[in-house]
Amino acid sequence: MPIRVLIVDDQEPFRAVARTVVEMTDGFEVVGEAESGEDSVTRAHELNPDLVLMDVNLPGINGLEATRQILADHANGTPVVVLVLSTYEAAEYGPQAEEVGAAGFIPKSEFSPERLADAWSAASVAS
Ligand SMILES: [Mg+2]
Repeated sequence: MPIRVLIVDDQEPFRAVARTVVEMTDGFEVVGEAESGEDSVTRAHELNPDLVLMDVNLPGINGLEATRQILADHANGTPVVVLVLSTYEAAEYGPQAEEVGAAGFIPKSEFSPERLADAWSAASVAS
């Protein structure tokens, strides 16, 4: 069973990059995309992804608040892992991402199949 991924980003060019990275990563598939924080909460509820790749800066509620809501929504259901991605460095949002329950933080410039697979392994070991 492939790991089902929901991509959340307000910028179409980055969603395209993220799609390519996910498709290049063995064992992962994209099941959906969202362009806003609110939309990501709805999509995560409908699609039940294994993994959400969450941008921080989004219109409406930001990615940190959306992460908090998605994890709360899944608290009594199927587990979901959220990885936060941002153009900013880890020092900026890493601690806040951890605080809302995200499994990890990846700077967008470093996002690659290796980083994705490593972050997923780390999250799976932790849970
Ligand atoms: Mg953004």
